[in-house]
Amino acid sequence: MEDRLGSIEEEALRAIEEAKDKDGLEKIKVRFLGRKGLLTEILKGLGRLPKEERPKIGRLANEIKFKIERAITERLDAVLKEAGPRVIRGFDPTLPGRPLPRGHLHPITQVLDEVCEVFERLGFSAAQGPEIELDFYNFEALNIPPDHPARDMQDTFYVDDKVLLRTHTSPIQVRTMEVMKPPIRIIAPGKVYRCDSDITHTPMFHQVEGLMVDEGVSFAHLKGILTHFAQEIFHRDTKVRFRPSFFPFTEPSAEIDIQCVICRGDGCRVCSYTGWLEVLGAGLVHPQVFRHVGIDTEKYSGFAFGLGIERIAMLKYGINDIRLFFDNDIRFLNQF
Ligand SMILES: [Zn+2]
Repeated sequence: MEDRLGSIEEEALRAIEEAKDKDGLEKIKVRFLGRKGLLTEILKGLGRLPKEERPKIGRLANEIKFKIERAITERLDAVLKEAGPRVIRGFDPTLPGRPLPRGHLHPITQVLDEVCEVFERLGFSAAQGPEIELDFYNFEALNIPPDHPARDMQDTFYVDDKVLLRTHTSPIQVRTMEVMKPPIRIIAPGKVYRCDSDITHTPMFHQVEGLMVDEGVSFAHLKGILTHFAQEIFHRDTKVRFRPSFFPFTEPSAEIDIQCVICRGDGCRVCSYTGWLEVLGAGLVHPQVFRHVGIDTEKYSGFAFGLGIERIAMLKYGINDIRLFFDNDIRFLNQF
């Protein structure tokens, strides 16, 4: 019987040493120490042994049982420690890394840059001004006194009686003419604000305005520059037409249409079947504006123009709802 116990011990310890994981150790435990395990059977059968052998064999069997239990516990610790890092962190250092998605400029920023570059190549330089502006620069200096009906053309966000969010970037032109003497060639890009919201208007949008002042500047210069601009931004042979219009700060004033970029002039829903799309407002600077900033109207003349960047971007990319630009939906933005 002692030999039998000895071989059970040897067998169990070897099996434990070779066990690779928790499941293997569990099976060994069942095989030797379970309710029908090899060692359990011997302990159960003690009663059948001769009386004088029982204490000795019983003690020996119990010692082996404890040895096996301790060996299983120790081996289990070692097995878990080996497997531990992988199981806990779920990290496989041999897998290739996940690439980070690469960002890009917002479509409005892209079009704004593109528009500015066209004018910069023509010798215009960009000027900046405050978005929170004085009523004087936004309206009065541009020939729009407090009771002028033209104020109704722009729904203004007022901070108080004298301070507002600029409704156009024209105040930059006034501020520039205050400190700079002709010749002047600037563009004024930036955010502007109007109390308006639908599929073609947002309370904040982007404008680029331009101003050129020098001796002998005429409507012909204006026409040449804006035709060049339209053909650079849209298509080499885009046709342009000038329609008489009214702005308080220019005289004469014009609205500039380009041939519809969707139907190329045949007429479609986007151009209301006219074949033309309005993209710019422009005119020769009103003498009253020059008087506000002290520029001699006998010697100098100039032109000014303005356009909305969102409008250009919508036409360029065929987008029919301006609000898409500001929803920040990555599925939309990723397309540019
Ligand atoms: Zn059309």
